[in-house]
Amino acid sequence: MDLLKQKIETEGIVLSEDVLKVDSFINHQMDPNLMKAIGVEFAERFKEDKITKILTIESSGIAPAIMAGLELNVPVIFARKRKSLTLTDDLYTSTVYSFTKQESNNITISKQFITEGDNVLIIDDFLANGQAAIGLADLVEQAKANISGIGILIEKSFQPGAEDIISKGYRLESLARIASLKHGKVQFAKEHHQENSYSGGR
Ligand code: 5GP
Repeated sequence: MDLLKQKIETEGIVLSEDVLKVDSFINHQMDPNLMKAIGVEFAERFKEDKITKILTIESSGIAPAIMAGLELNVPVIFARKRKSLTLTDDLYTSTVYSFTKQESNNITISKQFITEGDNVLIIDDFLANGQAAIGLADLVEQAKANISGIGILIEKSFQPGAEDIISKGYRLESLARIASLKHGKVQFAKEHHQENSYSGGR
């Protein structure tokens, strides 16, 4: 998705070989026009899939998910992160190790919001090791609902998450795919026989 790639090129900050900071348009300040375009793009990619629910995780997944939900005209659920949890009967729970925070969280959704027969689109901002996406998929599977696919804004293709998700048989749609963050530069994965790179600036 060109608009997202342009934003990454102009405003993304390469913090290390593993981490890209996108605080000015996704993770802290948010760009509503970009989020709207992302919603349209996901809706287009999943328009044949009879999506009934969108599932994301708080907090950075919520903005793109709500825009996709608006386009597809379906409800959006965000899984909540909780460090300690009193297990209750009306929640589905999974454990996710956070790549950026280096800690484990329980993630939960209320059982009433995803049920058998739902076709669920999972959306998140980044894909690194795949823990968040796989945790969300686990919640959907506990509900015996169908996972129509996983939509990601920024896939870091050099980390294992993408391969892992595909090997589990899930459909993965990433709007921007990054091949490398080495030497302070964003190198996008090849698309249409083109290769783009830039020096990560501030
Ligand atoms: P995973 O579970 O795939 O290892 O990591 C995904 C989660 O970690 C995302 O929800 C996102 O919040 C965070 N994350 C992973 N890599 C990055 C990164 O390079 N930059 C930012 N800003 N967040 C990241």
